[in-house]
Amino acid sequence: MSVNRKQRVAILFAMEQEARNFIDHYKFIDVSNNSALPFKYYRYDEMNTIELIVAVNGTCKTHAVDQVGTVPAAVNAFALIQQFAPDLVISAGTAGGFKKFDLRIGEVVLSKGLFWYHDRRISLPNFLEYGLGGIESFSTDLFAKNLNLRQVQISSGDSLATSKDDFSILEKTGAKVKEMEATAIAWVCRELKTPFFAVKSITDFLDVHEKVAAQFIQNLNMASENLTKVLIQLIELIKDQKFK
Ligand code: SAH
Repeated sequence: MSVNRKQRVAILFAMEQEARNFIDHYKFIDVSNNSALPFKYYRYDEMNTIELIVAVNGTCKTHAVDQVGTVPAAVNAFALIQQFAPDLVISAGTAGGFKKFDLRIGEVVLSKGLFWYHDRRISLPNFLEYGLGGIESFSTDLFAKNLNLRQVQISSGDSLATSKDDFSILEKTGAKVKEMEATAIAWVCRELKTPFFAVKSITDFLDVHEKVAAQFIQNLNMASENLTKVLIQLIELIKDQKFK
């Protein structure tokens, strides 16, 4: 006899501010345990077909800032899957995008194709490809069509700034959007056979003169609000899907 349990969908954020509106919208309950790492977990189980888990990377104990970047993202993704065994993991957050591809500030995009790294340059046979990642996204075609969202390849690295080498790898892989977590989470999800895709709201342009940090700070609120709106619509679509 098959046990008909609800599907569990986990949404992983790097920054508290990116997650706050979404958590408040559904009235999630804090289920963080006292783990050695300052990750936060929230649960919402009031829907008929799915249960939602939100994971946030938490605050650095030493520097008192949000734990952005690939290392906390990967460790949290691993801890999340071990603890909650989700049927689907979504990386939600903000990202920089190329103006030359007509992306807009505040636009929300979905992942497609492969997730890349733009700052892992390992010029040794076979390691070159390993460094670039190239990890597959779960298909977002249905969501893109229904919500009228663009789909892009996403690339991750550990800097907010984009170096010359980063730019040339972004060009080579064809990634139009750059952030600091998605590919690391994609790797964990691939290893643990958990379907994974990303939803990112554009805070800044990579290819303009204005400093990325200034753009990011100015647009973070608006981009986070747009991200929340799309996530709520996405949940409505996802609740009738099968992922595994
Ligand atoms: N300086 C920021 C720190 C956040 S780092 C602050 O003032 O709080 C940027 C975060 O947003 C990361 O989690 C990353 O995934 C995302 N991000 C947005 N734009 C980015 C860009 N241009 N490059 C890399 N990451 C970006």
